[in-house]
Amino acid sequence: MQVLDNNPMAGGRAQVYKSGGINFDAGPTVITAPFLFDELFNLFGRDRSDYIEFLPVEPWYRFHFKDKTYMDYGGKVEDTESEIERLSKNPEENYRGLVEYSKKIFEVGFEGLSDKPFNKFSTMLRQVPVLLSLKSYLSVYDFVSQYIKDERLRRAFSIHPLLVGGNPFQTTSIYCLIHYLERKWGVWFPKGGTGALVQAIEKLSKEVGIKFNYNRTVKQILVQDGEAKGVTLASGEKMESDIVVCDADPPMVYEKLIPSEKRRKWTDKKLKSLSYSMGLFVWYFSTKKKFPSIKHHTILFGEEYKKLLEDIFDRQILSDDLSLYLHRPSATDESMAPPDGDAFYVLAPVPNKQSGINWEDEGEKLKQRVMYQLETTIMPGLSDSLDESFFVTPDTFERKFHTSWGSGFSIAPLFQQSAWFRFHNKSEDVKNLFFCGAGTHPGAGVPGVVSSAKVMEKLVPPAREFNLAEIHKSFKAHSKTFSLASLLFPRESATAISQLYYVCRQLDDWADNGFEEDLISARDSWLNHKPHPVLDLYRDLQAKWGLAEDPMTDMLSTMVSELNGVCLKSESELIDYCRGVAGTVGIMTCPIIGVKDKSALTHAENLGIAMQLTNICRDVHEDAKRGRIYIPQNFFKTPISVDDLVGSNLDRVEEIDGAKLRLLGLAASYYERAQEGMKFIPLRARIIIKWAASMYGEIGSKIGKNPINYRTSRAIVPTWKKLSLFFGVLSGKTYSTPK
Ligand SMILES: Cc1cc2nc3c(=O)[nH]c(=O)nc-3n(C[C@H](O)[C@H](O)[C@H](O)COP(=O)(O)OP(=O)(O)OC[C@H]3O[C@@H](n4cnc5c(N)ncnc54)[C@H](O)[C@@H]3O)c2cc1C
Repeated sequence: MQVLDNNPMAGGRAQVYKSGGINFDAGPTVITAPFLFDELFNLFGRDRSDYIEFLPVEPWYRFHFKDKTYMDYGGKVEDTESEIERLSKNPEENYRGLVEYSKKIFEVGFEGLSDKPFNKFSTMLRQVPVLLSLKSYLSVYDFVSQYIKDERLRRAFSIHPLLVGGNPFQTTSIYCLIHYLERKWGVWFPKGGTGALVQAIEKLSKEVGIKFNYNRTVKQILVQDGEAKGVTLASGEKMESDIVVCDADPPMVYEKLIPSEKRRKWTDKKLKSLSYSMGLFVWYFSTKKKFPSIKHHTILFGEEYKKLLEDIFDRQILSDDLSLYLHRPSATDESMAPPDGDAFYVLAPVPNKQSGINWEDEGEKLKQRVMYQLETTIMPGLSDSLDESFFVTPDTFERKFHTSWGSGFSIAPLFQQSAWFRFHNKSEDVKNLFFCGAGTHPGAGVPGVVSSAKVMEKLVPPAREFNLAEIHKSFKAHSKTFSLASLLFPRESATAISQLYYVCRQLDDWADNGFEEDLISARDSWLNHKPHPVLDLYRDLQAKWGLAEDPMTDMLSTMVSELNGVCLKSESELIDYCRGVAGTVGIMTCPIIGVKDKSALTHAENLGIAMQLTNICRDVHEDAKRGRIYIPQNFFKTPISVDDLVGSNLDRVEEIDGAKLRLLGLAASYYERAQEGMKFIPLRARIIIKWAASMYGEIGSKIGKNPINYRTSRAIVPTWKKLSLFFGVLSGKTYSTPK
């Protein structure tokens, strides 16, 4: 995989501008939802904290109002409430109500939808009722006003759309979810700046084999018979590829990189009719003295908030009344400024280039106005202490980041430009062309663009062609009953189940048959995130269904550990083994069968352990023939050997049968624990899982009734019994556990 970027370094809008020995973070500074980065590193079996440290920011923001009052926002709900009380005497202020409602929006908008593909209209239609019930027709400002009465506070609590390029008076209230995003995870700053986070991701990417090519501008996407075939660079070089993924601004990609005759949906006319986000004027500067009273994130409101926003979005003129965001990273991380000075950027939202403003003339003038506003309010003595100084305007965004109309955040986050209405992550016009980044679902901002990559990964075909028919055939051949049962699942889930089964079965076969090389190479490919013919199927499931990394890591390491024979000593070693080879499968299955509640995972793991204990009990003698003794040695008075188990020593038969009963007792206790988790499983899946458990229960009770019968033969469940168990489950009977 190759990354092409016209910039000289990684990061795009999040890159670093170096000036006078200072690293100025160019763009994002407020890092929310840090778990998204943990997830990203975990995907490759890495720990984010080994690459980058996140420092907590406190307060999250300080808001300065025109009447010289200010509010600190952050900490606990109570802290914000007491700040509100300090500023507003209105008894109807209901901040807690705002938090609670934004939590509801968050649960639908972020947890439910932010990483779901919206390339089908039916997906959108399904969401409409819930979006309406969440009052998504209100603007953020109107929504906040229902709970907050003081005009200053209304402004403070409705700024979030501005962070993603929207007008709080027009942006759908769904964006209030950002409010709860901050409440839930807080606000963070990467140690060493956002640039250090970019470097960490670049390092990880290089470690897993991604090649970066900087200073390469894509001039055209090669489209042949409706399919993307690669790109042509500004240098004239052609690069062929099977798929093209664009993180660049989609309206620019369609307009400039794909000839109009190859586009049916995104015609030039349609692209022109879209509403674009605002432009940004950002002045980066350092000072020869410190400004210790300035917080990390400061918002300085002008006189008239609504008028400013109308000037930016509707009238498209430079307002005479500015609101500013000031960044002082040294408030959190001293290394971000020189020892005796300070470093900042200040951002003013401005109209995008549709305004026709001549930034060659206006840039310097605006800088002077911004400096005056800072100097006469919160930074006295600024002009005398100024050191490094440079600024960027919408011209820069157009030229350097190739955004349409030099906008800061692609198309605006309006309801009619969100989800299905936004640029799809899978191009509607060109096959094998995919998009992620600010212009796609779910939208701009760091959490948005990282989530858009998660959506895109679910849509991109796997690099390896899988023979799904072969996989399904193998599932049917090896497990007729379960392949039949899986028909009860929706088709996509059934396919995923057979895919998961195939992966686990293949690895299990290698472990059972002592195929050391295959298993070790699978484990190594997994740990180093290298392509692998079997494990790529699991990666495909990870992308599509969100299966976790750890269960596969645990399964592989447990299987590799049994390669040189097994002789478990204690019950805890036995349970660890069962957890590694089967509890993991329980956990892997959860996302596919629609289990959402995280507390269900332990129950799923317990069910896997219970089933594996039953398997061990059934296969004691078979396993011994392969040199594996899973019954723990401390179940016996003196050590038990392979010979004892394969039957040559008849003196120990009773003892072995006793140990089997103990195993079944242990299995029963795990079945019982798993039973508590059934309520988390959607109905259809619950029927199948209960049925599977009852079949294992039947095996256990057969052995339990008469262990001696199963020394030379295997306990099996005949077809008629399977059917009767199935109808038993349908009629609501609890599955029987082996006793
Ligand atoms: C000043 C500023 C402050 C911000 N503050 C925050 C914040 O505090 N918190 C937050 O969450 N978000 C913030 N954001 C928003 C966030 O930074 C962006 O939404 C996000 O970084 C956009 O990422 P992206 O991957 O979509 O695009 P980009 O980062 O722009 O990446 C796209 C890359 O593709 C390159 N490219 C484009 N066309 C071509 C081509 N033809 N050939 C080769 N390369 C090409 C571009 O040059 C760029 O390097 C801020 C943005 C700005 C500008």
